Amino acid sequence: MLIIKLTRRFYFTYIMKKIGIAIHGGAGTILKSAMTDEKEKQYTEGLNNSLITGWRILEQGGSALDAVTASVIELENNPLFNAGKGSVYTNDEKHEMDATIMDGKNLEAGAVCGVTNVKNPILLARAVMEKSEFVMMSTKGADEFAKLNNIEFASDEYFHTEHRYKQLQKAKESGKAFLDHTLEKDMKKGTVGAVAVDANGNLASATSTGGMTNKKYGRIGDTAIIGAGTYADNKTCAVSCTGTGEYFMRTVAAYRVAALMEYKKLSLKEAADEYIFKILTGIDGDGGLIAIDTDCNIVMPFNSEGMYRGFVKTGQEVEIKIYK
Ligand code: ASP
Repeated sequence: MLIIKLTRRFYFTYIMKKIGIAIHGGAGTILKSAMTDEKEKQYTEGLNNSLITGWRILEQGGSALDAVTASVIELENNPLFNAGKGSVYTNDEKHEMDATIMDGKNLEAGAVCGVTNVKNPILLARAVMEKSEFVMMSTKGADEFAKLNNIEFASDEYFHTEHRYKQLQKAKESGKAFLDHTLEKDMKKGTVGAVAVDANGNLASATSTGGMTNKKYGRIGDTAIIGAGTYADNKTCAVSCTGTGEYFMRTVAAYRVAALMEYKKLSLKEAADEYIFKILTGIDGDGGLIAIDTDCNIVMPFNSEGMYRGFVKTGQEVEIKIYK
């Protein structure tokens, strides 16, 4: 009996790599006082479905890359979140979406920005990574590439949500661009992202967004930029960010966390905390990130009121949180 127990422990500790996935659905002014039970349930369900979708892939021996892709698709298809179907409106009443994906095994990456009618921008980012010699494609060119690769398009009506449209009108009155969940206390929808480690110890990260409500001039955020909103390297960690993108770009957020681990020898938690609470906070930036390392440590720091987030990993049930 003892031998069986010890063998099991040895197997799980030394042979079976831990697997795990973490997701976010955006950070911002998310207050319990402004949330109804019904809404909270819907968000929790949406996050749970996304986590379970990615987890099943990992559990069956699938890759971290497939897991983060599937989890992000689930969130892109959910109108509650600011990505894919639920994307916010630009100043000229359109949707312009950004998405990136990165494979920590070989540092391959794909990104798209300013795409208007691609149903799942994360699938297009992945196609850029796998089927082209480029890393980033934008607007019309990205659409053309999508058509060539049989990526699904959706009509303007598909992306229309009444709530988002009202949100735009409010933003226009103020003349500013907003994180969608910061515009009003009860608007808590956001950019989506996933990071994972698979049974082979490979890391991957994916992020997708409609950007900021009322954005103009072809504004592109951190989500589209490898190293800013998204990064993955098996040597260190996989990271996906959410918040006011300008601050994340200026501080090269996702890569910064990896660099703090690689060069300053910080742990995942130390590196992520240093980034959010010193570097980002130090320039008055707002938002958060999720990150995972090859030992399946997971961290989710943020300096905003809340961040939709959750994870599941070997030996630990699904955990979903919204507020601080
Ligand atoms: N980071 C995204 C952007 O600036 C927005 C968000 O995370 O909600 O486009």
